[in-house]
Amino acid sequence: MSDGTGRRTIALSFEDGPDPVWTRRVLAALQGAGARATFFVTTPRAVVWPEIVGRILAGGHEIGLHCGRHLNHLDSTEAAIQADGEIALKILKSQGIEPALWLPPCGTIAPFSGDVARRLGLRLAAWTIDPADATGSPQDVLDSVAARLQPGSIVRLHDGFDESAVDDEPCRFSLEMIARLVERARNLGYETVPVSEIGPRTLDLLAEAPAAGHPAAPFPS
Ligand SMILES: [Zn+2]
Repeated sequence: MSDGTGRRTIALSFEDGPDPVWTRRVLAALQGAGARATFFVTTPRAVVWPEIVGRILAGGHEIGLHCGRHLNHLDSTEAAIQADGEIALKILKSQGIEPALWLPPCGTIAPFSGDVARRLGLRLAAWTIDPADATGSPQDVLDSVAARLQPGSIVRLHDGFDESAVDDEPCRFSLEMIARLVERARNLGYETVPVSEIGPRTLDLLAEAPAAGHPAAPFPS
């Protein structure tokens, strides 16, 4: 089974950055592993660390929108989410960035999220595998993720912190996973690419993702 382009591809999705410490480490790990990824950024951080955003792009990676304020769509109004998205896109545009993809905070999708995305000119994205769902040693988690990989899989990782984060464990864990995950995927015949490159069939499914719930998982697992 391929993604329709003849390549077998998966994507790594980073969220809650950029971060001056963790994004740099993540970028170095990705470079070492020979993989490219998508970074769903928060605009308050992009404003503070524009040079990190520049490094992401210089590495051949993709920038997507995560959020301005870290608003859970299910706890917010459509107007608030629309306004947050407009401000965030304006900020990114002032930095020369026009993202195509949008991973909402916590991966939660409200009934209005698809409409807001269309008005903002964005396509909703969603991870299909969250390594945090697995338990055990890093090796156990890696085995669990590898067992669930299929063409078009999007693996959730972190290179920053949302407002509720209590420590840097998600970033530390993500960094630890990168090289091993990319290698395991490669051994299974997968190339690790940015989310927008995982193939037309997959992106069509992403566009159809907005059913209310958490997380928005468009694929059977
Ligand atoms: Zn987040």
